[in-house]
Amino acid sequence: MRDFLPEEAHLMKFIEDKARRVAQLYGYKEVITPVVESYELLSAKAGEEVRSRMFVFKDLGGRDVALRPEFTASVARLVATVLRNEAKPLRLFCVGSIYRYDEPQRGRYREFWQSNYELIGSTKPEADAEILLLTDSLMKGAGLLSCAFKIGHVGVLRGIFDQEGIKDDAQSRAMQLMDKKQYDDAFRVIRETGMTARGLQTLERLVQLRGKDVKGVAKEMKDCVRDYGKAVSAVENLEEILELVSRSRTTLDVTVEAGFARGLEYYTGMIVEVYVPDLNIALGGGGRYDRLIELFGGEPTPAVGIAHGIDRIMLGLQEQKTALKVEEEKSVVIVPISPSLIGDALRLAQLLRTGGVHVEVEAMRRKTSKALEDANRKGVDFAVIVGEKELKEDAVALRDLRKREQKAVKIEKLVETIRQV
Ligand code: AMP
Repeated sequence: MRDFLPEEAHLMKFIEDKARRVAQLYGYKEVITPVVESYELLSAKAGEEVRSRMFVFKDLGGRDVALRPEFTASVARLVATVLRNEAKPLRLFCVGSIYRYDEPQRGRYREFWQSNYELIGSTKPEADAEILLLTDSLMKGAGLLSCAFKIGHVGVLRGIFDQEGIKDDAQSRAMQLMDKKQYDDAFRVIRETGMTARGLQTLERLVQLRGKDVKGVAKEMKDCVRDYGKAVSAVENLEEILELVSRSRTTLDVTVEAGFARGLEYYTGMIVEVYVPDLNIALGGGGRYDRLIELFGGEPTPAVGIAHGIDRIMLGLQEQKTALKVEEEKSVVIVPISPSLIGDALRLAQLLRTGGVHVEVEAMRRKTSKALEDANRKGVDFAVIVGEKELKEDAVALRDLRKREQKAVKIEKLVETIRQV
């Protein structure tokens, strides 16, 4: 797990702010859930890949608990319990740290941050389309020049598996292997289930289908799965979602990938991952999970959601060398010229802060020249030098550290003068 020094911490908070802003723009309300939850809850539907990487321990009460490896289980818990009577649709947002015992490498950490959006209560394609649009808003809002969406539909593979009578656990194992692009192993698992030759041929052809021509790929997919009714409906659902995105007049760079699978077990519909060029790791991932809330004891409730990796958005920005557009506030250091004036320095600092000015007070009792030298080095804009003589006149010396100019300013005019320069 890493430390974030001020510059990185600042970038991280900047992205978090953008994520909150997108939540507001799209009507998502923030909830804050605990970092530690019961192991049973977190592991119930996480999928083997995530489950095996959880930080699990016994608390002092002897309960099996874990650090959250994702937000969705916690949100599902809320929707199944305290929020069960809330009117639908419910739009919920969370942002915070996530823990997985992954192999640390560039863009892969054991503690990382996610922004997470869930739209709960709608089965309709406009809900899936909204998740794609808000992701695009976040990536662009954070300053990424471009991002690309990889989109698939779990219902296509599951439709074939179900009709072929393949058991759920074998389906999940095969899809986890496909998620890791281990197609040979996936097909070995599928063959062992005794799938028919027709089913195998369909799957082999299907996993080759991908492309940016959404309509063209969808047509080929439908042709490929034409004998499997549920799989055909899944492709039609995907087409509807992407048609709505296109009619919103938002241009998304979409690649449809028929054999796309995701490690988490609970997806039931569209699945998505977001990338930026030059960075071969996903910046976000999610999809539709219509049965999860029911599994946590709630009413049958459809839902669709996405989680974005804040650390990876940060990497994407660093990769692009995008300079942060930070609103520059004026900064001030207050230097009392003798220890007897420290109280006055603190009083003036509070006055400036009330006026919204960023203030540091000299805290080491250094000579004025030393304190000013230090302020110069740090790029502070102004020094307020507090001296007996000026105070008697209700004034201080205001020094513009960039221009190296100094003048006496009445205390009542200080905030205004600093703001105007
Ligand atoms: P997932 O829940 O696995 O789909 O993850 C959603 C997003 O979280 C991914 O697209 C990444 O951006 C981010 N993410 C997942 N695992 C890690 C990790 N170990 N380190 C940093 N970011 C991660």
